[in-house]
Amino acid sequence: MKDFMIVGRGLAANVLAHHFNRQNISFTIIGNTNLSVSSKVAGGLWNPVVFKRMTKSWMADDLIPELLQFYSDCEKLFGTKIMYSRGIAKSFVELQEKKLWLKKSGEELSVFLDADIKNGSHPDLVHCRVEAEFGLVKQSGFIDVPGFLDESNRVFSEFIIDEIFDHRLLEIKTNCVAYKNNTAKNIIFCEGHLVKNNPYFQWIALKPAKGETFTIKANELELNETIFNRNGFILKLPSGNFKVGATYEWTDLNDLPSDKGENELRDKLNSLITCPYSVISHQAGIRPSSADRRPIIGPHPEFSNLFVFNGLGTKGVMLAPYFANNFVHFYLQNQEIVPDVHVKRFYPLYENWQKK
Ligand SMILES: Cc1cc2nc3c(=O)[nH]c(=O)nc-3n(C[C@H](O)[C@H](O)[C@H](O)COP(=O)(O)OP(=O)(O)OC[C@H]3O[C@@H](n4cnc5c(N)ncnc54)[C@H](O)[C@@H]3O)c2cc1C
Repeated sequence: MKDFMIVGRGLAANVLAHHFNRQNISFTIIGNTNLSVSSKVAGGLWNPVVFKRMTKSWMADDLIPELLQFYSDCEKLFGTKIMYSRGIAKSFVELQEKKLWLKKSGEELSVFLDADIKNGSHPDLVHCRVEAEFGLVKQSGFIDVPGFLDESNRVFSEFIIDEIFDHRLLEIKTNCVAYKNNTAKNIIFCEGHLVKNNPYFQWIALKPAKGETFTIKANELELNETIFNRNGFILKLPSGNFKVGATYEWTDLNDLPSDKGENELRDKLNSLITCPYSVISHQAGIRPSSADRRPIIGPHPEFSNLFVFNGLGTKGVMLAPYFANNFVHFYLQNQEIVPDVHVKRFYPLYENWQKK
């Protein structure tokens, strides 16, 4: 009997599968890649700085070393590149932003902010709409998430059952779970925002946010070693095209590109670059953000062999490696799940949900 069934085919499921694999925890992945496409359309950025408040991103000191190690180990396994360390150039639109940058780069953000302010004629930002000056974030970059998913599908192909999981067919027994012809000691759900259809975990407090991105071609744009940020981001993909994003929308929650998203992305592009471009594709997905903006991980309040791994929100690339590792140590050595992410903070919601 396998140790786990993993339900889902996105970033969460696959990062977890790699951690299981490394620790000899056996698993079957059950899922369909097209029900939710958040991971497929993600920009894949990791950024240790929250620009809005110029603060350190939550747990960045712990998350970044873990992500660097995790994705570089994946690259070795795949024999292909998926991780791109890139400085993020943040254009200063107002003088106040530069002052704050200089202050923070000498204080708590010194390891993440380059204190050396650059001027706009940088050779790697040709046709980027840089103000007179900009700052550079250190220890940032992006993961080619579609590449990571494709390669993971390849290395785990013998463990994958490609289908829509029907929760009604799950049998929960004392020491195992059964689904069709499969049995495992445990099951872990990594369904992104579609956890809303999961009768065992639909009570967890997600606050999903739709996002849209463009992939564009821009022959004159020189942006090779840097990600450019100015009320949005633009980065060069391994294909030579550029990814532009991203929008946020909390009401119109579907996976379809919208006119509103298109207009917003064109506005972003106009404030990011000064050269002609053509749109190759326009994509949309739903981020599985949680109400308190922390991941949601751990056991079901009633069935001890059911688990959830969700709530990766806007930062799945950075959060997933650290917390998949945390989950594996919880499973193998009974190590504590980081309290801020433990699903038990939502157990009162389960009680209320049951009473309905
Ligand atoms: C526009 C946009 C830009 C983003 N940019 C970034 C970024 O730059 N950096 C970053 O870190 N994050 C970014 N994100 C967020 C990132 O995409 C998420 O944090 C992450 O991908 C979530 O992964 P997940 O596996 O939890 O969910 P999902 O990607 O939604 O995966 C869930 C999977 O489960 C499958 N599934 C669900 N239910 C079932 C079922 N019943 N049966 C079978 N299969 C099922 C789905 O088909 C899917 O494969 C962005 C998201 C969007 C939308």
